[in-house]
Amino acid sequence: MKRPILIHPDPRLKKVSAAVDDITDARRQLAEDMLETMYDAPGIGLAAPQVGVLERLVVLDCAKREGEEPRPLAMFNPEIVAASDELNTYEEGCLSIPEQFADVTRPAEVQVRWMDVDGALREEGFGGLWATCLQHEIDHLNGKLFIDYLGPMKRQMITRRMVKLKREQARA
Ligand code: ZN
Repeated sequence: MKRPILIHPDPRLKKVSAAVDDITDARRQLAEDMLETMYDAPGIGLAAPQVGVLERLVVLDCAKREGEEPRPLAMFNPEIVAASDELNTYEEGCLSIPEQFADVTRPAEVQVRWMDVDGALREEGFGGLWATCLQHEIDHLNGKLFIDYLGPMKRQMITRRMVKLKREQARA
């Protein structure tokens, strides 16, 4: 079942989400719903606070090149255990900040540890778009948005656009 995505500014997007200690059926369902919501949007990543659940869960699938097999991942308590000195700049967007894009520079490779939907501890290295997306989604769990990396002028301009968008949506 699809869930509504919160649009910035929203106080829930600024909160630190709580660690998950066991994988219940409700949480497995949440992960499934988030993947459905993400693919439908369409997007390549989504964090639980974006659907109003303040728990440490992210979903992603950055396999979007032609001919590449889909790789839906759901990560509970994802944690970056190591990051490369080498940096990478990507033009980022966010399903909570529709149609706004900006360059963000982050470590090019990250080693991530997480708990999967079966409760197993996993660890893997990610590069390219996967690395950027994972850092963006994990930021959401700490109440941080990609626009927080921009200068105050640009951030305020985007926020004003979102306030206007929400006002228009409320009227529709
Ligand atoms: Zn986002």
